[in-house]
Amino acid sequence: MLVYAFCPRCKIDISIKTSAITRSELEDEQGLYITKRCQKCATKHDFHVNQIKAKVSPRGLKLTILLSIAFAFILIIILYWMGFWSTFTLALPVAIVYLFHNSQAKEATDFNSIKINRK
Ligand SMILES: [Zn+2]
Repeated sequence: MLVYAFCPRCKIDISIKTSAITRSELEDEQGLYITKRCQKCATKHDFHVNQIKAKVSPRGLKLTILLSIAFAFILIIILYWMGFWSTFTLALPVAIVYLFHNSQAKEATDFNSIKINRK
């Protein structure tokens, strides 16, 4: 899951490093307002935690695709060597990527749906 703020000036995402999976956890960790410098326009912005959003990390998804293909490839070689062959092996990387994407999308939806009361 990628946690990010949106630069109002250049309309790009500013990623936020955090282990928090909810807004309240993010608030506990970094405070109600998070100051972030945009990498493009170098302007510092203060973001209220409610302005912080989450989405499926494109990099994490790419990594999962690569790893599951590598994993399936090794499994296919081992099974082939042992004399087994199954189309299930081919479905495995697809299933892993699908499950990863689903759980990430759910986490992101949960993150985005819970707002912190304005103080
Ligand atoms: Zn910017």
